[in-house]
Amino acid sequence: MKKIALHWQILIALVLAVLFGIYLKDYVEYISWMGDIFLRALKMVIIPLILSSIISGVTNIGNAKNLGRLGLKTILYYVMTSFFAIFTGLILVNIFEPGVGANLDLGKKVELDVGADSLGDTLIKIIPQNIFEVFSDNSQMLSVIFFAILFGFFITRVDKRSNTILTDAFNAVFEVMMKVTMFIIKFTPLGIFGLVAAKVAEQDDLIALMQSLGLYMAVVIMALFIHAFVTLPMITRFIGKVNPWKHFHNMKTPLLTAFSTSSSSATLPLTMDAVENRSGVNNKISSFTLPLGATINMDGTALYECVAVMFIAQAYGYGLDIGQQIIVVVTALLASIGAAGIPMAGLVMITIILTAVGLPLEGVGLILAVDRILDMFRTATNVWSDSNGAVIIAKSEGEELKV
Ligand code: ASP
Repeated sequence: MKKIALHWQILIALVLAVLFGIYLKDYVEYISWMGDIFLRALKMVIIPLILSSIISGVTNIGNAKNLGRLGLKTILYYVMTSFFAIFTGLILVNIFEPGVGANLDLGKKVELDVGADSLGDTLIKIIPQNIFEVFSDNSQMLSVIFFAILFGFFITRVDKRSNTILTDAFNAVFEVMMKVTMFIIKFTPLGIFGLVAAKVAEQDDLIALMQSLGLYMAVVIMALFIHAFVTLPMITRFIGKVNPWKHFHNMKTPLLTAFSTSSSSATLPLTMDAVENRSGVNNKISSFTLPLGATINMDGTALYECVAVMFIAQAYGYGLDIGQQIIVVVTALLASIGAAGIPMAGLVMITIILTAVGLPLEGVGLILAVDRILDMFRTATNVWSDSNGAVIIAKSEGEELKV
């Protein structure tokens, strides 16, 4: 019998999960463990995968002496696409004004147990004071990346013998981690079934939410679609000279996983597999750009944060002038860079933007209820942008791709 492609298996699992979550709500505890195990397994590989891939990526690129150029291109792509995303959100939220007259309980106080650091602190904390501390915490990826880049860079500066040993060793560790990853990927449909069924069963007042926050959700999702299906494909086509739809076809499995897990970091192993083995990006480039992208390139999150803050301002009746909107744009970019690739990280970072423009932090409470749903869409956009970055940069380095 012909094997059903993985992305079809995932789609079927998604549909079954939604049906299960709605009609067999009381039984989800019997299947939610599948999702828990899957997420735990993905989280297990994140740190060793990021460490080995960035160290081997930086070392291989550094030995070939084009680290500076690649780094610059990568950052340029990340900043450019994030700005495009934010502007798309800003334009739509100004046109549709979903917060004006929204029927919301503005007096509601929220308990946010996750305090976000200020931007200054976030930057300072990029330098870890104890590497084992950050290795044991999946949300401090910027520090892990910082250490990995430094370590990889200085491997290229040691004597030839040590360089060869270390380069080979980290390449080998990375190879092993990718094999472990591929093994976990086989279980994606089962994992997603458990995860999504449990999430669907939790949402009981969806209709009520739709009434008050429907337009806001529609604006976020519409802007994300424009960014993902118009802006990014155009950049990939005209700047990257790569066929975006062929690449999209290759990316279905990681995109569906990003959608179901709401975590770019957890999806990273699948993203790397698809970008390398399906779209044909050389491991040297993908192992450097993708882990970096999963942490700092979050177009969907940046867009979402901008729309959310504008929505909160509209709901409270504060008109933000152009100057303040520019502050929103810039802080949304920085907040998206600082957000970890885990579920609801973007929501926490919104407090930074609210503070910057003087809006009440309680505003986050207005959008809390639908954050998890919107997280699915923005995380898929984040991963889609990372993968486009990898193919564009690979192509610009003169590589032959399969897309
Ligand atoms: N969940 C998103 C991600 O992992 C981050 C966010 O909350 O916006 O990419």
